[in-house]
Formats: sequence, C-alpha cells, structure tokens
Amino acid sequence: MTPATLDITILGSGTSTGIPVIGCNCPVCTSADPRNRRTRCSALLQYGVHNILIDTSPDLRLQALREDIRHIDAVLYTHSHADHMHGIDDLRSFSLHSGKPIPVYGSTRTLKRVRENFSYIFDDMDQPGFIPQLTLFPVEISFELFELQIIPIPLLHGQMQVLGYRCGPLAYLTDCSAIPDSSLELLEDLELLVLDGLRFKPHKTHFNIDQAVQMAQTIGARQTWLTHLSHDVDHPRHEPQLPEGIYLAYDGQTHSLPIQDLKPNSLRTLRP
Ligand SMILES: [Zn+2]
Ligand SMILES: [Zn+2]
Ligand SMILES: [Zn+2]
Repeated sequence: MTPATLDITILGSGTSTGIPVIGCNCPVCTSADPRNRRTRCSALLQYGVHNILIDTSPDLRLQALREDIRHIDAVLYTHSHADHMHGIDDLRSFSLHSGKPIPVYGSTRTLKRVRENFSYIFDDMDQPGFIPQLTLFPVEISFELFELQIIPIPLLHGQMQVLGYRCGPLAYLTDCSAIPDSSLELLEDLELLVLDGLRFKPHKTHFNIDQAVQMAQTIGARQTWLTHLSHDVDHPRHEPQLPEGIYLAYDGQTHSLPIQDLKPNSLRTLRP
C-alpha cells in the first residue's frame, strides 16, 4: 500500500559557516535560542520506511545522531558546494550497516564533481578501505524513487545551474538567486516550500530575505520556510516580521505532508 504521508525534517538550516560562526561574538552567534544554532543546510525526507537525504553537509554525522537516523536509502544532491557535499564520507556508516551501495542522484555536473573531489571513493587503487559505497545516477527529468515521484527543479545560484527537488506537495529549493519561468511551472499547488533566504543584505548567489519573500508569494505554497540562514537572521526577532505563511526554518523542524491526493496521472502532468 502507498504510504499516506511524506515527512520532512530540516537537518540543517544554516549558511556555509554554520551558526555560531567560529570566532563571532554577535548577538545571534551567542544567542541562547536553540533556533539560532544552525548546522549546514540539509534535509531528510521520509516516505514509508524509506529515508531520502538531501545533500551531505559537513555536519551530517551530528545531524544523523541528533535525529537518530539509522539508515539512508538514497541521496539527492542539489549542487557541489562544500557546505552541501563535504559530509559525504559519513555515508560510509550507512552503507556499512546496509551492506549495499547507496543510490546518489544529482545533475551530471554535480556527480562529476563528486567523482573528482572524492576520487578515493571510486578509485579502485584505494580499495579495500572503509569508504562509502555509492552508485551515482545523473538526473535531469523526473524519476521515481520508492514509488515517490521526484522532480528535479533547475535553479540559478549566481551563474551556476543547480537543482532543487519537488516531491509531491513539497519542494526544497536551497542555494538559489533566480528561478526560471520553466521551473516555476513545476512549483504549482505546493503545501510546503523550503526556500533559500540567506540574509537581509543582497547577495550575488542567494536570495536575500526580501527576494525570498517575494518569490514565496509568487509561488504561493501554503507555507514557506526560509533556510540557509546567516547570523544576520535572529529567529525570535525576525520571524514575527515575516508575512503570514512564511517562517524561518530551524534545525530539527519537521512537517508531515499528506500525499494520498496525488495520483500518478496528476503527477505526470508536472514532468518538465
Ligand atoms: Zn555572528
Ligand atoms: Zn551553494
Ligand atoms: Zn550553500
């Protein structure tokens, strides 16, 4: 039977430095509010017994221990920046336990970077070591994972093309500064949008909070969580200033989304 819910957990809501930033004494970095403590950006999707990890942040081990994640059944990569990928070695504990390779999905360009930057994982010369067992699957158009349709959403992160992902009523779009119209068409009727909203000042490769709010209103999901937050963003102070339905993400935040209304036919119309 098809599971009735898709659950998301924000594993990390922070920008590339994590919050607190090393050596910083600002009010957010020294805040006692746990929502101002942000590990690097990542999320977990749970569908039935399946755990799908979005990105392998440098904080993956801590995130997995914190959320008691016992297995990872697939990884979706958004792009190859260090804050989204450099926890890749922590996947070895999961592949050791399961005894099988973990399928890893991403754009051709991102997976090329995985092979280049972490060649010891794929290079026969280094065998047999305690390394992650991974199988790479380049994706461009929608694909099925554990009976769940996953739709890659092309985004612009400065000049770089990266991917967000849509799964049923949920879209996860980190690290972006523009969303092409052809991608906006894939983002209709969302319950939950997780969207990059780095900080208040403009940035070349990320939406700032104003741009993210504007984009969230254009997309019109029932609720939007802003993620990849810097230490300029103070959760208790700034969240109440956001428009209705738009919130700041925090580590450990969860949401359960019903998916029984999405029949295969209605999903098929979302194919790019
Ligand atoms: Zn700070
Ligand atoms: Zn990035
Ligand atoms: Zn990033």
